Amino acid sequence: MQKLPNLTAAEAIPDAAMAEVERILQTGDLFRYSSDQSPVTLLEAEFAQALGSKFALAVSSCSAALFLSLKALQLPRDAKVLIPAFTFAAVPSAVIHADCIPILCECGSDYRIDLADFEKKIPECSAVIISHMRGHTSNMDAIMELCDNAGIPVIEDAAHSLGTTWTGRNIGTIGKIGCFSFQSYKLLNAGEGGIMITDDEDLIAQAIIMSGAYEHNWQKHPVLHSAFAKWQNQLPLYNLRLNTLSAALIRPQLDAMPDRVKLGRRNHDHVAAHLANCAWIAVPSALQPEKRAPDSIQFNLLNMTDAQVDGFVEQAATLGLKVQVFGRSTDNARAFWNWNFLRSNPDQPKTRAMLNRACDVRLPTRLSLDECDVVAETILDAIDTTMKA
Ligand SMILES: *Cc1c(COP(=O)(O)O)cnc(C)c1O
Repeated sequence: MQKLPNLTAAEAIPDAAMAEVERILQTGDLFRYSSDQSPVTLLEAEFAQALGSKFALAVSSCSAALFLSLKALQLPRDAKVLIPAFTFAAVPSAVIHADCIPILCECGSDYRIDLADFEKKIPECSAVIISHMRGHTSNMDAIMELCDNAGIPVIEDAAHSLGTTWTGRNIGTIGKIGCFSFQSYKLLNAGEGGIMITDDEDLIAQAIIMSGAYEHNWQKHPVLHSAFAKWQNQLPLYNLRLNTLSAALIRPQLDAMPDRVKLGRRNHDHVAAHLANCAWIAVPSALQPEKRAPDSIQFNLLNMTDAQVDGFVEQAATLGLKVQVFGRSTDNARAFWNWNFLRSNPDQPKTRAMLNRACDVRLPTRLSLDECDVVAETILDAIDTTMKA
């Protein structure tokens, strides 16, 4: 069998970005508000246009974007915010940071929100964050209907879902606010960074001020300015701005986005088809209205004991492949029972069962189909060895 490709190395930053970084370093102009046409402002305009939303605000991380979204919604202290039990620890953390209380909602074996549990918990909550984990989109039609009927705002945590569409609409534009990450493991890589999008003038005005547009720096945002007068000097400044260099790294990658989305989906579907014949594996399929943009693959191990699951992970590692079973790796930040910083953390048995069998393998968009074959064959080989033992 051919050698396994490197699944963890990042892709090179485009030459255009390097040239722009060099130019900026020559000027020393690293602060977004020191010029009117900062790369950060340009990135916001380009990102909003690419996604089809009115406003964008670039910040230091997706976590910062989630935090500012909750603050801009003016939720009272101790308001309950419904979040999926399958999400990254940064999500309940953002809720706590905003002085709110995270309420966990069960997720199913397809990694998506369990709608029955969601509907049950909605009445006690004042806002909702939907994490489209690893790009798996929860049923946004059902979620929006339930939340609209209850008059509850939806924030989409689309950190890892950039490029995914739902009935042709970009993920992140369906709720009131969409938040994305530019951390290195996401589709657009600046090392760190995030961005929020919304069509709501009042929310973006507040978020801009709180992100650190002190005094009249908000005038450098090409956003309708009437909303700012109301909020001038009324909001704390959390200083979560994006560095100019980070925006310079992202902008040329925006052009590469459609290709990355296509290649990621091709690679994912190729490996998924390869794994489909294995009796010990189930790969949840996309929902009908969803067009995914994956850079990894998730699959569930069926009819295996804990020991067999752990044996499979070990065997894959021996063959050089890192497989993460969310619930079986120590201190995993996506296992809700590790969130000991929560005041109350009741068990979510459905999500727990899923996390103990859900495997995660990186599948970078740069892989060739031959390299994808090696990944799939290594997974099947490790299963085979484990289940024969
Ligand atoms: C990466 C990620 C985050 C956090 O993004 P940061 O930019 O690192 O703060 C939040 N939610 C999900 C689903 C993620 O994948």
